[in-house]
Amino acid sequence: MATSFQGFRSLVENSPDAISLIDAHGEILYGSASNIKLFGYRPEELIGRNCLELIHPDDRDHSSRVLNEVAAAAPGPLQWDARVLHKNGNYSWIESTASNLLSETEVNAIVVHQRDINLRKAVEEDRQRNLVELARSNLRLEEFAYTAAHDLREPLRAIRVYAELLSSRLNMDPQASHMFDFIIDGAKRMSTVIDDLLSFASTGVHNPPQSADLEHAMTQAAKNLSVDIKASDADITVGRLPSVMGNEIHLVRLLQNLISNALKYRSERTIRVDVSAESRDGGWVISVADNGIGIAAEYQEQIFKPFVRLAKSDVAGAGLGLAVCRKIVEGMGGTIWVESEVGVGSTFRFTTPGQAPSQPS
Ligand code: ADP
Repeated sequence: MATSFQGFRSLVENSPDAISLIDAHGEILYGSASNIKLFGYRPEELIGRNCLELIHPDDRDHSSRVLNEVAAAAPGPLQWDARVLHKNGNYSWIESTASNLLSETEVNAIVVHQRDINLRKAVEEDRQRNLVELARSNLRLEEFAYTAAHDLREPLRAIRVYAELLSSRLNMDPQASHMFDFIIDGAKRMSTVIDDLLSFASTGVHNPPQSADLEHAMTQAAKNLSVDIKASDADITVGRLPSVMGNEIHLVRLLQNLISNALKYRSERTIRVDVSAESRDGGWVISVADNGIGIAAEYQEQIFKPFVRLAKSDVAGAGLGLAVCRKIVEGMGGTIWVESEVGVGSTFRFTTPGQAPSQPS
């Protein structure tokens, strides 16, 4: 049903948005009363001016492009944000929606609806500032953790080496010898924490992604863990693994942490670990499945946070292994999660973007 021009006029006069009619070159033909509220101008002060004059110089080119697109009979209304000059000399963020009604004989203009979005912009800018500040502060924290861990390593090594030397040289009674064992054990644990902390803080994942062979990374991870694998008599099977976009050193660390956990959190059964890959949505899902003690559902998210440990204190670790895994996987643009049942075992899975050569069939 066609709306009469009078009907259209009464509709726009009562709209809370400022509504203006402009011609194909941006000249203002009509402005509704709400223009006073939004821009401080009475409608008659706007008529005859080019609307682009009122737009902030930095937003003018973009606004002009949108208006040209609308004037060239864009199919639907186009929307854009720009700073518009208020009569008081300040700029306000305004959302404009322009529709081409040039060929409607009763309107014969481009209709522009405008609304104030200063609040929305302020919230967005605030959020952006907070995100940047958070990223900066995380980086500072990581740099601090790295420096502190790095500087603690040497004195700790000295404590451990000299405690071991003293304990072997001195002829101590059993009680003193027991105390020395505590010192050496404490130093060993602290050195694990420091190594994990160094690994967590240095996983900045700033290296550009390259094609990395997961099969090669797996061989390296198994080599690094060969003593533990042999000692625990674990049965590890590895399926065909693809090349993925990532950093090979990080991938070795990732697989190593997952397999090392499968060895540490074992049940009474012979340890079985199965590493496999499955192609999904153009990328890969890599799984490391074990038959260990399993993880209760309520902890399956939490264990990826730094320093969260469910393990008894006699199992070595600082609670950083899975946090490092998550950082590595997210750095590659993937996600990591665990599916697990207490008493049955756990399957850790992570996704990676794919890479063409040497894919498993
Ligand atoms: P850490 O091994 O140093 O404690 P992680 O971040 O690697 O730290 O693991 C966090 C916790 O998640 C562990 O303390 C353990 O309780 C649990 N966990 C990790 N991997 C497994 C697994 N394969 N099976 C059972 N529990 C696991």
